[in-house]
Amino acid sequence: MDIATNPEMADAAPTPHEPPVIRREDYTPFAWALPETRLAFDLGVEKTRVTSSLSVEPNLAAEPSPVLRLNGDGITAAQVTVDGSEISDWTMDGSDLLVPLSAGAHVVGIVTEIDPSANSQLMGLYASGGMLCTQCEAEGFRRITFFPDRPDVLSTYTVTMTGPKSLFPVLLSNGNQTGEGQNEDGTHWAEWHDPWPKPSYLFALVAGDLVANTDSFTTMSGREVDLAIYVRDGDLPRTDHAMRSLIKSMEWDEQVFGREYDLDVFNIVAVSDFNMGAMENKGLNVFNTKYVLADADTATDGDFDGVEGVIAHEYFHNWSGNRITCQDWFQLSLKEGFTVLRDQMFSQDMQGEAVKRIEDVRILRGVQFPEDSGPLAHPIRPDSFREISNFYTATIYNKGAEVIRMMRTMCGPEAFRKGTDLYFDRHDGEAATCEDFITAMEDGAGLDLTQFRLWYSQAGTPKVTVTMDYTDGEASLTVHQSVPATPGQPIKKPMPIPLKIALFDPATGTHRGEELLLCNQAEQRFTFDGFAQKPVLSVNRGFSAPVTIAREIEDHELVFLAANDDDAFARYEAMQDLVVRHLTAASSGGLSDEARDAARDAIGTAFGAIITDSALDDSMRGELMMLPSITYLAEQQEVADPSAIHQQREDLKAWLGVRFAKELAALHDRVSQLEFSLEKAARGARKVKTQALVYLASGDPESGSKAAARQYDAADNMTDRQGALMVLAGLGTAARTDKLIDFHRRYADNELVVDKWFALQASSLHPKAIEHVKALAEHKDFTLRNPNRVRSLYMAFAANPHAFHAEDGEGYRLIADLIIALDPINPQTAARFVSPLGRWRRIEPKRAALMREQLERIAAVKTLSRDTFEQVSRSLGD
Ligand SMILES: [Zn+2]
Repeated sequence: MDIATNPEMADAAPTPHEPPVIRREDYTPFAWALPETRLAFDLGVEKTRVTSSLSVEPNLAAEPSPVLRLNGDGITAAQVTVDGSEISDWTMDGSDLLVPLSAGAHVVGIVTEIDPSANSQLMGLYASGGMLCTQCEAEGFRRITFFPDRPDVLSTYTVTMTGPKSLFPVLLSNGNQTGEGQNEDGTHWAEWHDPWPKPSYLFALVAGDLVANTDSFTTMSGREVDLAIYVRDGDLPRTDHAMRSLIKSMEWDEQVFGREYDLDVFNIVAVSDFNMGAMENKGLNVFNTKYVLADADTATDGDFDGVEGVIAHEYFHNWSGNRITCQDWFQLSLKEGFTVLRDQMFSQDMQGEAVKRIEDVRILRGVQFPEDSGPLAHPIRPDSFREISNFYTATIYNKGAEVIRMMRTMCGPEAFRKGTDLYFDRHDGEAATCEDFITAMEDGAGLDLTQFRLWYSQAGTPKVTVTMDYTDGEASLTVHQSVPATPGQPIKKPMPIPLKIALFDPATGTHRGEELLLCNQAEQRFTFDGFAQKPVLSVNRGFSAPVTIAREIEDHELVFLAANDDDAFARYEAMQDLVVRHLTAASSGGLSDEARDAARDAIGTAFGAIITDSALDDSMRGELMMLPSITYLAEQQEVADPSAIHQQREDLKAWLGVRFAKELAALHDRVSQLEFSLEKAARGARKVKTQALVYLASGDPESGSKAAARQYDAADNMTDRQGALMVLAGLGTAARTDKLIDFHRRYADNELVVDKWFALQASSLHPKAIEHVKALAEHKDFTLRNPNRVRSLYMAFAANPHAFHAEDGEGYRLIADLIIALDPINPQTAARFVSPLGRWRRIEPKRAALMREQLERIAAVKTLSRDTFEQVSRSLGD
């Protein structure tokens, strides 16, 4: 699954106020094996009847049990049979159905009836715009029928769907279609069979009036695979990029990981109402429309990349997730961390390694680092949870990817491939664990990961300090590491940290080769000799380890690295460091005018070099021009004052905008000459265009507003138009209102673009952003029923520090109101809004008290879902 946001059915019993804690150490294998599952669906939007037939036999690897425990959630059994005869001695234990069974093999039959139209949680089988679709990961299948809904029970599925042809002309499920036919009453049916045993979370069904973009792919062994992307009529012209992305993903996984596709068909369906980004159901991926539909007029370059990356991610799961699944949900990072790494490597190959790496690090540091330093911190393999939906986190996904990336860095690409080959061979068809993966990497790649396992069990971002002593031509580096305390883990051990470094000769601007230092003790010393003068240290090159680095380095040395470093990430980092140092000092108060001027001079020197360096490609220039985010800046301080940081950051932007007005205008003119294309140069030009506009508007809002309005009017693509509107949305000029009205009118019938319209206003720098958000919540296009729309308004707002952290606490109240209103409708999405409030310990005391007050107000709601209850109680630290 890909992250983007679970509740009870409307008629379900309220969740107990204190849901139980589930622990990794309590794992036991299921008592029964289910070699074969048959499901028959009699489909209707308001009533769907599900008849299941489960072939069961004792699992020889488990303790025998006289009872078959089947999970349910918000459903009741209309009939239970064993070996063809109805039984009445079944019982309920909470929401689980218990069927008494004698030893030996049996066939258990169950009939349930569900109402997809009432399913606002979007988990299980639900209705979206007249079509029916499913989302089962992690525990949605139990909302369809009673079943051992756990990832280690693998079964072969045969699915029959029957429904009115007028409503549901297309009937899809996992695997290959094995039959279809018409009935005399106007209904039709289809049968699908998936030959690959799978857990219930990978089950999928789609029924609706859909059209398809079709193509085909010939695999490395010469097998033809029919490909189809199903969308609503009218969306077909926007599916070509998704299809190209799918084909490229299939080719790449064969070439880079040796993985071949294993069914005759691969189908993707796009759905408007979806909690997550997309879902890797075997042979039938279900996607949020956001990650399928794209054309130049309605999607930004970032959206195109998002489609390519998520299509790849879900496709790659066919091996890392489906062929080898997880033993239990504590192992989620086994499939997600590995698959994120695979999609990142793919995108690096497609889009360019350097810039993609910087983007991935920006996400990690903007989202995962704050998670890792807050109340919701957890290891990439957690030890306990109350609601698994809350663990689809940046830690499991993005940090999980970084951990496997470090293995690759330590052993090199060839040995890494030997490790992954062994893992795929050894565990194909199994439900595996993180430990299985680690062992396969040790055996296949020749790594000793004994101490490295700490990356799986210890939460928190390691802090690494590097100091250099230089005497008589010898540079000696002292590397010190510590891992901060996190909830439940007060004391940590040192971990193996692979640090790529280079020592630059400041006279020549060159270095004598990159070194990989493996730091695995609290303190270590590394010595290098033969330097004519003190070298300049470039460290954590390529972001070789997910750590924070504190290094002793002078501003002029950072200016040097920002201009000369041959590692793109390190060059970006030098520029970021320069700005972080200054803004951290400035926002903590007490910076003298001289010190401020000196820091701005250094930043100006580096910035000037970046915007005028003709050897630099524009996509990299665009990255280097971006200032660190307020969230990232706040993360650098124990206790932060978000409005002071915001103010200092805006002041610096304005100063740069004034000082480089001429150069920025020239740059904006130059990049505006390029014709639209999806080629790298043109994409880089568009990135720089909007960046230049951001600074120009900060320096001079009046002329900046005019330039932005011109860019908006001249735009022949969404990247330029959205960029211009983003700048305008932060200004108080007449053009702001005009262009916002125009944008909504122009794209009124396109949900995804209307989402952008909401998000641009909610994330704007406008001083009245809170008032705008309140008004937008009353807009006719706003609804709490669609997760994309909710996120476009409220997630954008919660990520807008100057508005969210309003001094009177109004921003906090707004998010708390949303959580309380959304929780009964869609708890999975509601719970995702808790973490911004959970940051209270790291915010200055007055605001911290206001944030806590809102968390307590949510906690006082008696009917809170399991999802939200868990996040709120962890955030309060009770
Ligand atoms: Zn995934």
